Amino acid sequence: MSTVKRVYTFGNKQAEGNGKMRELLGGKGANLAEMNLVGIPVPPGFTITTEVCTEYYEKGRDAVVEMIRPEVEKAIKGIEKQTGMTFGSDTMPLLVSVRSGARASMPGMMDTILNLGLNDTAVKALAKRTGNDRFAWDSYRRFVQMYGDVVLGMKPQSKEDEDPFEVIIDEMKKERGVRLDTELSTDDLRELVVKFKAAVKERTGADFPTNPWEQLWGAIMAVFQSWMNERAILYRKLNNIPAEWGTAVNVQAMVFGNMGDRSATGVAFTRDAATGENIFNGEYLINAQGEDVVAGIRTPQQITLEGSRRWAAAQGVSEEERKAKYPSLEEAMPAAYKELFDIQEHLERYFTDMQDLEFTIQDGKLWMLQTRNGKRTGAAMLKIAMDMLAEGLIDEKTAVLRCEPAKLDELLHPVFDATAMKNAKVLTKGLPASPGAATGEVVFFAEDAAKWNRDGRKVILVRIETSPEDLSGMNAAEGILTARGGMTSHAAVVARGMGKCCVSGAGELIIDYKARTIRIGDTLIREGDWISLNGSTGEVYLGQVATKAAELNDDFTKLLGLAKKYSVMRVRANADTPGDARTAFSFGAEGIGLCRTEHMFFENTRIKAMREMILADDEAGRRVALAKLLPMQRGDFEALFEVMNGYPVTVRLLDPPLHEFVPQDEKGQREMAAEMNVSYDKIKARVDALHEVNPMLGHRGCRLGNTYPEITEMQARAIIEAAMNVEKRGIPVKVEIMVPLVGNHKELRYQRDIIEHVAEEVFAERNDKMEYMVGTMIEIPRAAVTADQIAEVADFFSFGTNDLTQMTLGFSRDDIGKFLPVYLDKGLIKADPFQTLDQNGVGQLVKTGVFKGRDVKPQLKCGICGEHGGDPASVEFCHFAGLNYVSCSPFRVPIAWLAAAHAALK
Ligand code: PEP
Ligand code: MG
Repeated sequence: MSTVKRVYTFGNKQAEGNGKMRELLGGKGANLAEMNLVGIPVPPGFTITTEVCTEYYEKGRDAVVEMIRPEVEKAIKGIEKQTGMTFGSDTMPLLVSVRSGARASMPGMMDTILNLGLNDTAVKALAKRTGNDRFAWDSYRRFVQMYGDVVLGMKPQSKEDEDPFEVIIDEMKKERGVRLDTELSTDDLRELVVKFKAAVKERTGADFPTNPWEQLWGAIMAVFQSWMNERAILYRKLNNIPAEWGTAVNVQAMVFGNMGDRSATGVAFTRDAATGENIFNGEYLINAQGEDVVAGIRTPQQITLEGSRRWAAAQGVSEEERKAKYPSLEEAMPAAYKELFDIQEHLERYFTDMQDLEFTIQDGKLWMLQTRNGKRTGAAMLKIAMDMLAEGLIDEKTAVLRCEPAKLDELLHPVFDATAMKNAKVLTKGLPASPGAATGEVVFFAEDAAKWNRDGRKVILVRIETSPEDLSGMNAAEGILTARGGMTSHAAVVARGMGKCCVSGAGELIIDYKARTIRIGDTLIREGDWISLNGSTGEVYLGQVATKAAELNDDFTKLLGLAKKYSVMRVRANADTPGDARTAFSFGAEGIGLCRTEHMFFENTRIKAMREMILADDEAGRRVALAKLLPMQRGDFEALFEVMNGYPVTVRLLDPPLHEFVPQDEKGQREMAAEMNVSYDKIKARVDALHEVNPMLGHRGCRLGNTYPEITEMQARAIIEAAMNVEKRGIPVKVEIMVPLVGNHKELRYQRDIIEHVAEEVFAERNDKMEYMVGTMIEIPRAAVTADQIAEVADFFSFGTNDLTQMTLGFSRDDIGKFLPVYLDKGLIKADPFQTLDQNGVGQLVKTGVFKGRDVKPQLKCGICGEHGGDPASVEFCHFAGLNYVSCSPFRVPIAWLAAAHAALK
């Protein structure tokens, strides 16, 4: 026998594994073990490790079965001993569930088999033991269906195919004239089993397996196989989960929530996963099994009385009706509820995080089937972390680490404008499953949602209920609306995980997939019509509703403060206007890392003077136009310096090729000619002369200032004069003048000389002085590798990773869209290198630049101002590369702070 342990058993308050073994046992397996260790009732079972999953893909099914057979047989014996039942027994058959469980939770993405062990003899024994014929035959027909779908491959592969078992059930219901499965008789269920098995034989050519061991091996291998199903692969891609991790398999004694009215099954959260409110909540179904609650097929009831009342109020259900038809678990089964309440408190305190629980009540006895850290929205993430910090459950560092930088983005998204809401027509109301505002065109199928989204359209995915197959469509949609399902339905859980707005269980919707319409009362909505969703209230509106910027609360400010406290790197913003600068400042930016001065030239009066400068025949002509630009630039800089009130402002000299400032089409050129009072031919000739085959590698950056020094002179004068004017008003100014696109130190030396010369001139004119710095962008590979020479001339470096990526990878910033999707699909690159830094390539140049620069000037200030400055993974890289700051767009400043703090705390 091999010495590697591949199977870990648990049960009766003992376990071979524990909660720390997520990598080996998966999240579910590790927590099942841990729950046993803390004395919580869990049906006995065992976990087959994630390593076996990897072996399955390396060595194949047969080799793996032989490898784990002895351990699995022994573990089954263990369950038999604890339950007093026997696997394959005719009289006391042990039934088990077989479930997946990866290291990171992947809700609903992989396969599950319940009631395994049933066959024609076992079903009778089950009926006899429970005294419940209907229950036994219902369990059996569910098992044949699940096993047929999952293990024997009968599940429909596309939306056109139908599940063969559902077709048989539908036919029978039609024949019997009933609507619900629950209205079928025990004899009907018996007949269903016979028909299901016949369907299996017809499709697969083989009999349905009656031997429980054969069933068990089939199920275990099917779970391993499901690690590579399409939706699991997509989910991993969306959530950055490596394929190498593999899934564990959990085999557990079955407990039944569908044994009658003293049985139930449910899902609960220790706090509200949508808002973060510290309130126990969840949903359950009486006389239901396993996945019924999450599948969203029956609208479930609330666990707590408080939750039930809130639900009834939202749905317009009277208190009497609520009590009679939809009582809470607290009312229906008070003893089991009390035990569940105590357990959830215990588990949250034990794991010190919000838990997502699954439980089953079998004949009045509560069993816990799962606990895991619950998925949550950005708002809930923030509130839970700050509340738990205040409650003393976690410390500051943990609170910071609990908040995912990328998820903060959700809080910065717009919400519906209150005035616009007043005029908006409320179509209907569902459950507020995942907060936020969303507006888009109605689309009914996931493939269409993905396609429309690729075409640049905003869509709302509308489904009767969602299933894991809809994942790509949910991801592409602005929001999700379902007619069925509760707060724990698939749509709700997945949407919250994605931070997507979702309204579920809007029962008034009559969705017709064939006609592609929704009917709500008298209103008919067709595919392509606009609707809007408020995921915080559950309201659905006709048409587009205007949105406004999000308001940030105290928790947000508190988190930002902690992030600043723990991060070593500082965060600045890329901002060109006082408005941007103010936003950045309010989000905690400690300076401006990049002010692109060319953006100041595009406004009406400025573009005229700019064009005059470009059109000029000689230096004298350019100087006349530049003199007009000078006061405008000076004014702009003054406003920026005032807002930043002593925080550093990095002003970059003119960068883009000049042709960007002149119209390229005839109409525009004629207008420009008229405006400037010159001939159209002259304009056309000048525009043609500016044409470059490769403008990104052409006459731009410091090459402009080196060929037309008067441009640099004007800009340097505007900056220095503005800074001195503001200082005179008693406002401190820290100015950093930045030269773009330097490839060798001589270019920078030439520009620096011009700047210093102008500064001296201004100082002499004013008989005053001020401090300023002159630095450069490192955005050409040559600059990075000759950074030691450049550092001799530079007071600071700022890595322009947009251009550095373009020039290092040889991917055009403007044309990458043509091949990027294919490259990503084929795995030729992992991510868009313009969004997340190519650490092995471009990143190495950044490190080289920092290293060589500081070799010459140990205190050299280094930052980054490319788009990567707001990407969490790139921010982490920058921390470890020793940068002093990152600079990013104002709305990403909080994300960058949090990412920087995470890097420092790792
Ligand atoms: C860069 O190249 O990274 C940069 C910040 O400059 P720009 O995007 O303006 O070229
Ligand atoms: Mg650049």
